[in-house]
Amino acid sequence: MDPRKLYIDQRHAAFCVYCGGHPSTREHVPSKVLLDEPFPPNLPVVGSCKSCNNGYSKDEEYFAVAVECAACNSVDPNALQRASVARKLRESPSLATRISYAVKQSDLGGAILVKLENDRVVRVLMKLARGHVAYEFGESVLDDPSERWVGTLAEMSIGSREKFESPPLPILFPEIGSRAFSRMFALKESKSSPHDWQVLQEGRYRYLVSPSPFIVRLVVSEYLAAEFRWD
Ligand SMILES: [Zn+2]
Repeated sequence: MDPRKLYIDQRHAAFCVYCGGHPSTREHVPSKVLLDEPFPPNLPVVGSCKSCNNGYSKDEEYFAVAVECAACNSVDPNALQRASVARKLRESPSLATRISYAVKQSDLGGAILVKLENDRVVRVLMKLARGHVAYEFGESVLDDPSERWVGTLAEMSIGSREKFESPPLPILFPEIGSRAFSRMFALKESKSSPHDWQVLQEGRYRYLVSPSPFIVRLVVSEYLAAEFRWD
């Protein structure tokens, strides 16, 4: 077993990764509402307090449905790919109403556009990003990120997509010729870079976390993309 993992597990069992409070429960990152059954084994788990754990669950449900509707370009449950999301939409009229508020019909070809920059979506993405930093590095980032971007993979130019997909090089000791400098290049060449994309469920959820500064990138349903940065 990786001893670093053990140390980190102890660290993030010691605080709620979302508010810094006492962790009374443990929680999956991402929440299972963003994944399909059968769930992947060994999902990341972090410490969380009860109020953060409960406080986000409605937002996460909304987020999962909004992203699926946007990705499938429809608010009709029959047109959605994710069975669990279609079921939620059918069973909850209030959720269906909330989603229809978040959606607007575009003039171009009638595409469904979910307003991705709304507070709920950003709140959930930020929570996910904090959870991933805590899980990977045992650190809590409670401040607001210094930079954030939320959008879709489809809207990126080829150049920005390439940049987004490439793991950033952590700024360790940037002197040319130092061991850290060569290690940075070794990391870049190596397929097993610890800062490369972690695919939790193919086509459904992947993320990347890089240290110094903390950069978190997320892709949900190969549709929604986000980047957060804490300097
Ligand atoms: Zn909390």
